[in-house]
Amino acid sequence: MVQGSVNLNTERGKEWLQDYVDNWVNFYQKQTDEGKVASYIPSLEHADPNALGISIIGKNGTIIRSGDTNVEFSIQSISKVLSFIVACMERGLTYVLQRVDVEPTGESFNSIMHLEINQPKKPFNPLVNSGAITVSSLLEGRTSDQKLEPLYQLLEKILGHRPEIDVDVYVSERDTSMRNRAIGYYLLEEGYLESDLSITLETYFKHCSLNVTLDDLAMIGLVLSNDGVHPNTDETLIPKQIARVAKSLMLTCGMYDASGKFASYVGIPAKSGVSGGILAVVPPRVRNQNLPFLEGCGIGVFGPALDKQGNSTAGIKLLRHIANQWDLSLF
Ligand code: GLU
Repeated sequence: MVQGSVNLNTERGKEWLQDYVDNWVNFYQKQTDEGKVASYIPSLEHADPNALGISIIGKNGTIIRSGDTNVEFSIQSISKVLSFIVACMERGLTYVLQRVDVEPTGESFNSIMHLEINQPKKPFNPLVNSGAITVSSLLEGRTSDQKLEPLYQLLEKILGHRPEIDVDVYVSERDTSMRNRAIGYYLLEEGYLESDLSITLETYFKHCSLNVTLDDLAMIGLVLSNDGVHPNTDETLIPKQIARVAKSLMLTCGMYDASGKFASYVGIPAKSGVSGGILAVVPPRVRNQNLPFLEGCGIGVFGPALDKQGNSTAGIKLLRHIANQWDLSLF
């Protein structure tokens, strides 16, 4: 218990939560030096390595924002959760899972080696590059814009605004991503792709380049926490079964090859991206105590200095701290 006898649903309780989060953001901001900003996509290199911010949006409407919250950054790998969801909504869960597995790789997100050894022959999961590129090929439409239109529409319904592509990031990745092209050619040779390779890669690079804010990530997390239903409109935006598989994948495969550690020490579904973002989902939980966000919440974190696996160094520490203090873990 961290908040003593303060009732968290009162104004005083919310102030208490805000102070609490501010303190820990300040504390972990001093540890951003331990990580390094991603540079393999040249345009990501401009990010401030010392930035750290968090936004938490609860089902009861409570919003806690702290640190560097006024930043926009490209969503990167976090978009793989969304492209998977949209592909499943268009083609059906069974169809998609016949083409992409749901197993953790234990390898880096852009590994080619694991593609050659997986049996039955299909990419390990939709949250690594090979799986996400395959999923991009499954999205309906002839052009990348047609393929991405349903994803933009889904985001518009969740966020209340249409997301935009960061053109610099898109061009920067498109022009440098030899590794993703290699993965693409391998997938093509093996017959995994259902669309032209260049359209598939264009689709993949574009959804990775979508600009988001911390509130955007927290809102996506909140809708997933609420089984795909938008808590403000009560509209079902994602079928429950698809939301469930997406969250399972986040828990088992969402934090690169540190997913097992994150599941053990933090215990909530999350997906990170190389720009330093983390999308985390806290489902409603039954706890016999006065704890924050018992009805569930979505969390967005941004801290561009990354550890070796590609996760935000300070972001992970901050999430781990809050999750442990607030007993957010699923288990
Ligand atoms: N667009 C990035 C890539 O394909 C995404 C990587 C990530 O965020 O994990 O390399």
